[in-house]
Amino acid sequence: AKSLGRACHKVFDRTMHLRAVELLHLETDLRRAIERQELRLHYQPIVSLTTGRIHGFEALIRWQHPERGLMSPAEFIPVAEETGLIVPVGLWVLREACQQAQKWQKQFSTSFPLTMSVNLSGKQFSQPDLIGQIEQILQATALDARSLKLEITESVMMENAESATKMLLRLKALGVQLHIDDFGTGYSSLSYLHRFPIDQLKIDRSFVKRLGADDESAEIVRAIVTLAHNLGIHVTAEGVETAEQLTQLRALECEYGQGYFFFQPLTEAVVEKLILTEQQW
Ligand code: C2E
Ligand code: CA
Ligand code: CA
Ligand code: CA
Repeated sequence: AKSLGRACHKVFDRTMHLRAVELLHLETDLRRAIERQELRLHYQPIVSLTTGRIHGFEALIRWQHPERGLMSPAEFIPVAEETGLIVPVGLWVLREACQQAQKWQKQFSTSFPLTMSVNLSGKQFSQPDLIGQIEQILQATALDARSLKLEITESVMMENAESATKMLLRLKALGVQLHIDDFGTGYSSLSYLHRFPIDQLKIDRSFVKRLGADDESAEIVRAIVTLAHNLGIHVTAEGVETAEQLTQLRALECEYGQGYFFFQPLTEAVVEKLILTEQQW
């Protein structure tokens, strides 16, 4: 048993070592990814559940790694957050997404109120110069601030609710819209909800997933939607995958939906084809 223990220990050490080396490689590669133009944005449509039309898009990052292929954010965002690289990466995302939104608005119709949602990580959210940087990006891309929606997770807001509220007010003053992401997964959210100057919340897909499967989930979603509406906040349901979920969400008067039932995250070229073929605007 002793030698087995030692062997296990060895294997464990080796795994840890490999993992550390791999993380180091990943960090080095990520540092160069921006200048080497390996980062990409995909855009997932957000659909109005009342009209069935596309209301806007959420920008979702991908990394076209030279050896590993197309990497999902789950594979590198944690490393980016740990190393602080999320700050330059996040600024790249903001700039790229704003540029894209402005381009589509101009290209397709000036009256088409297309919005662009961008995820902000906790590290970015606590950067003192975030406000100035967003202001600069809006100016440089000539995007109307109202078209930009910033998604901040409930847990980031709750981490330090006092300073978060101040930051949210400063962001709000820029004219951008603020959304709570992954709502329902943090704590004590309900009591704080009225204090945050937010425009919308996104119900986490774990609740949406169970809609139709158990009655309790429907009750939770109903409670969230009712509370949000009482506070004048609109609701987006994430991860809508089935017609049954859609039916329930409409019955609950949830305003917007996003998920594979409607569209997957799409490349720029596919979005452009979609807009042209649907001619729904
Ligand atoms: P999120 O903000 O909750 O984004 C939604 C995720 O759910 C996306 O995964 C999307 O592809 C996926 N999704 C959409 N519809 C469905 C569905 O019907 N079913 C299922 N199972 N999944 C669906 P993705 O693109 O892999 O992104 C994962 C997470 O990575 C995001 O979660 C977000 O937290 C983070 N992320 C993505 N892009 C950025 C970014 O630019 N900056 C930062 N800080 N984080 C990002
Ligand atoms: Ca582009
Ligand atoms: Ca999001
Ligand atoms: Ca989310």
